[in-house]
Amino acid sequence: MSETTVTMEKIVSLAKRRGFVFQSSEIYGGLSGAWDYGPQGIELKNRIARFWWKEMTQMHDNIVGLDAAILMHPRVWEASGHVENFTDPLVDCKKCKGRFRADQIPPENLAEKKCPDCGGELTDTRKFNLMFKTNLGPVEDESGLVYLRPETAQGIYVNFKNVQQSNRMKIPFGIAQIGKAFRNEIVTKNFIFRTCEFEQMEMQFFVKPGTDEDWFEYWRAERWSYYKKMGVNMKKLRWHRHGADELAHYAKDAYDIEYEFPMGFKELEGVHNRTDYDLSRHQQYSGKDLQYIDQDSGNERYIPYIIETSAGLTRQLLMLLCDSYEEQKISDKGNEDDWRTVLHFHPILAPITVAVLPLMKKDGLAELAQNIRIELKDDFVTDYDQAGAIGRRYRRQDEIGTPFCITIDYQTKEDNSVTVRDRDSMLQERVSRANLTSYIQQKIKSYNTASI
Ligand code: ATP
Repeated sequence: MSETTVTMEKIVSLAKRRGFVFQSSEIYGGLSGAWDYGPQGIELKNRIARFWWKEMTQMHDNIVGLDAAILMHPRVWEASGHVENFTDPLVDCKKCKGRFRADQIPPENLAEKKCPDCGGELTDTRKFNLMFKTNLGPVEDESGLVYLRPETAQGIYVNFKNVQQSNRMKIPFGIAQIGKAFRNEIVTKNFIFRTCEFEQMEMQFFVKPGTDEDWFEYWRAERWSYYKKMGVNMKKLRWHRHGADELAHYAKDAYDIEYEFPMGFKELEGVHNRTDYDLSRHQQYSGKDLQYIDQDSGNERYIPYIIETSAGLTRQLLMLLCDSYEEQKISDKGNEDDWRTVLHFHPILAPITVAVLPLMKKDGLAELAQNIRIELKDDFVTDYDQAGAIGRRYRRQDEIGTPFCITIDYQTKEDNSVTVRDRDSMLQERVSRANLTSYIQQKIKSYNTASI
C-alpha cells in the first residue's frame, strides 16, 4: 500500500459523503457525542459485530451469548462501584467556559489553574459521575432512579448463575455480549472515537482462582490474533500495560490494545484480570450465593475469577475506516482522475460485497445485469449501479470498499461471461456466469491482506 496521510478530516468527510456516519440530528445543528450510522455504516457495523460474535462464540465451544437489558436495577451500579467511582475529574474555565478533564490537560496548567486554551482562571477540580440517569415510572423522584448502563459487563455478571445453570456450563466458560452503553463524557472529540452513546463487544470469562494468570495470557493472544484475521495493519497496533496508578480498583492486571489513529496511539480494547471482585460484590449486595460448585474437584465452592475482553464496536469501525483508507495514484493524465480513494476492507467486513454494473444501459445489458444481481443476492450483499461512466462507478465502489465489481458487457450477451474487477489490484478477470458465486466465495476465503 502506498503511503497516504490519513487525517480525521478526510475520514469524517468520506464517512458523510459515502453514507457511513452522519452527525446526530444534523438539521438541528447536531448533538455532541452522538452519531448516526448510514446505509454503509450500519452494514459495516453489523459485519464487525458478526465477525466478533463468530470469533468469540462459534469458534469457542465454551462461550455462549447474552443480550441483557440496558436498564438494570440501580443496586447493580452500587455493587459494581460505578456510583462511587465512575467519575472523571472536571475543571471549567471561568473566562472562556471551556470544560476539560483534569487528567487530560498539561499538569502545569492544572497547578497554576490556568486554562490551556485562553489562559483564564480554572475552577477547582470536581468529580463528575459519567452515568446518565433517568426515571422508571411516572414519578420523577429518587424512587424511580435508574441508569443507562455505562458498560455491558454488569449484565453478564448478574446473569452468571442463570447462564451457568440453564446451559450446564462448566468452568472455565465465557459469556459474550454486544450492546449499547452510555457515558456522559466530558470531552467528546475525534469523531466517533469517544461518544456518549456507543456500542461495546464484551466477553467475560469465568475461571478457577489460580488459573487466572494463564487464562489472561491466553485471551491476550486471542484478541491480538483477532485483529490479524480482520486484516488490520499490525504495525499500527501495540500493547499498553496499565501501571499501578492506572489500574482500576478491581483489576489485578490490565492491558490495552492500542491503535495508531490519526491523533496518535489510543485504546481500542482492554483485556483485564478482574479477580473475584465483581461476583463477590454482587453476592454481597444481592444476598444471593454466586459461588460455583466445582463437580470436577470434589464439589469445591468458589467465586470465579473473571478475565474480561472489552472492545468498542463503534471504535473498531473508526479504526477500520482509518486503517483501510488509501489515496492511490493510478494514472498520469494530470487531472483528478489520476487518483482514487479506496477502502481496503477485508471482503468479510466490506459493507457491500458485490456491485453489479452494466457497461451500458441500452441493448438489454441493464436487464441482463439485473438478472445476474438476482442470482447473487441470496449469498452476498449487492449493489446495482447503471448511472454514468463505468470508471466513475468503479471509483464510487472503491470509496465504500466494495471488493468485487461485476461488469456486464456485450460479450456477456454472447457467452454468458462477465468481468470481475478486484478492488485492490484493479485487475479484471472473465468469469462464467454459472461460476460467479463460487468464484467470489473462494476469493473471499483466500483473501490475503499482505498483497495490498
Ligand atoms: P477511557 O479511560 O478512555 O474513558 P475506559 O478505559 O474507561 O475508557 P473501558 O471502560 O475499558 O474504557 O471500555 C472498554 C472499551 O469500550 C474501550 O476500549 C473502547 O473501545 C470502548 N469505549 C469506552 N468508552 C467509549 C466511548 N465514550 N465512546 C466509544 N467507545 C468507548
